[in-house]
Amino acid sequence: MSKIKLLSPRLANQIAAGEVVERPASVIKELLENSLDAGASRVEVEIEAGGVKLMRVRDNGSGLGKDDLPLALSRHATSKIYELDDLEAVGTLGFRGEALASISSVSRLTLTSNAGDAGDAWQASAEGRDMVAELKPAAHPRGTTVEVRDLFFNTPARRKFLRTEKTEMNRIDDVIKRLAMSRFDVNFVLRHNGKAIHNLPAASNQHEKERRLAQICGPAFMENAVHLDIERSGLRLWGWVALPSFSRSQADMQHFYVNGRAIRDKLVTHAVRQAYQDVLYHGRHPAYVLYLELDPATVDVNVHPTKHEVRFRDNRMVHDFLFRSLHRALAEVRPDDQLPSAD
Ligand code: ADP
Ligand code: MG
Repeated sequence: MSKIKLLSPRLANQIAAGEVVERPASVIKELLENSLDAGASRVEVEIEAGGVKLMRVRDNGSGLGKDDLPLALSRHATSKIYELDDLEAVGTLGFRGEALASISSVSRLTLTSNAGDAGDAWQASAEGRDMVAELKPAAHPRGTTVEVRDLFFNTPARRKFLRTEKTEMNRIDDVIKRLAMSRFDVNFVLRHNGKAIHNLPAASNQHEKERRLAQICGPAFMENAVHLDIERSGLRLWGWVALPSFSRSQADMQHFYVNGRAIRDKLVTHAVRQAYQDVLYHGRHPAYVLYLELDPATVDVNVHPTKHEVRFRDNRMVHDFLFRSLHRALAEVRPDDQLPSAD
């Protein structure tokens, strides 16, 4: 008898889940990204007991037809890329086709969806070892609801790492805020244990955007922030940077987006830090919400399963552009100061 066996689909998914499903907040990130990729203009998130008992994400996006539902739950199945070339310039937040399969292997998940035209909704769930989805008719307007119950009920080792309800809820809140800052055009609603936590209406003009930012980062940040919007040789940097006088003791208000995706990157942190270098006291940290837009073909987002990291094709150019743009923006608001020239 052979010693080597194929893993059951469920076990394979649970192993993959180890990388992307660390805690309730990671589930919310994946579900919200799916809603945004589906073109939703309104996303409602409902949480019970810090997400361990229940997480429900409901959107009014494009929805899925009956035939697509079981596929959505299988691993390596995606509607977002079809060939290698597509990976070169991903325009969606998701593309790995793993999130729903991973989440459903470590929870009790139902996916209810209505693709619109035909008018009928279906619900899929998969729990067994082979993860074959069960389908039944349901009632749902156009869009999708994903319900995740009893996270890690079958992986006690993971469950042990969960923190208090409050801590898990704070992480969920962070994820929602981070996404809400990347999509001003979407209405985000969050409820915890039946109580309203956030309702961020869609923001279209500058004033409404700044109101959302004040809700998320606090009014003090907004009052001390300058708006910038700089474009050069195919690169665009826009957003809000706090005046040096609004520096913080921790690096806890630093939000950076590359083509709409929140990322953490050493090169970015370094460039920003350098731009603030002469105007910040040692040990203080700048606060900012910044958006970098560039040709998707010049940035690789497939670096890590959580997609928090990116790789730029031309590090030097991006670093220089960030440094110069921020240096200029900061110099403009402090004309009396002797800032050394960026050039
Ligand atoms: P990925 O997002 O990487 O494609 P997922 O496992 O997150 O992989 O989702 C699998 C597929 O299920 C998606 O490609 C999409 O077609 C579909 N899907 C998931 N969530 C939604 C949603 N909220 N609305 C519409 N389609 C969805
Ligand atoms: Mg996804």
